[in-house]
Amino acid sequence: MAITSKLKPEDRKLLIEGAFEAKKGTYSPYSKFPVGAALLTSDGKIIKGANIENASYGGAICAERTAIVKAVSEGIRSFSGLAVVTNVEKPISPCGMCRQVLREFVSLKMPILLVPANYPSPSDDETFTEGGVRETDLDELLPDSFGPEELELPRGE
Ligand SMILES: [Zn+2]
Repeated sequence: MAITSKLKPEDRKLLIEGAFEAKKGTYSPYSKFPVGAALLTSDGKIIKGANIENASYGGAICAERTAIVKAVSEGIRSFSGLAVVTNVEKPISPCGMCRQVLREFVSLKMPILLVPANYPSPSDDETFTEGGVRETDLDELLPDSFGPEELELPRGE
C-alpha cells in the first residue's frame, strides 16, 4: 500500500505529465541520460526543463536547473511542486548542485516527485506514493543546508 501524496491529485498529475513532456526537450548526446523536470508555480502553471549538454562537458546544465532558471528569469519565484523523470525505471534524485540551486527558491517542505520511467510502476515499495513515485523534499534531500537566510545573520568583518 503506497503512502498518500501531499499534493492535490490534479497538481500531481500536472507535474508528472509535465516532467515526461519536458524530457522530450533533452539534448544529451554525451551522457545518453535524458532528464525532464517540471515545476508547478503557485498560480498553477507548469515550467518545463530538460538537461542540455555541451561538447565542452562543463557547459552542461541539468533539467532541474533549466526549469528553475527559466522560471526565475521570467519573474516567477513561487513554487508548489517539482517532478523529475529519467529513462531509468526507478526514482532518480537530483544532483547536489541542483539541490543547492533549488534551495535558493523553493521551500524546504515543497513536494519533490521522483518519477520512475515506467510510471505508473508496479513498485511495491511502501515508502513511495501511487505509481512508484518517491515523494520527498529539500529537507530530506539537502539536510542542514546553507541558504539565503544565513547571509542575513550578523557577522564580524
Ligand atoms: Zn543536477
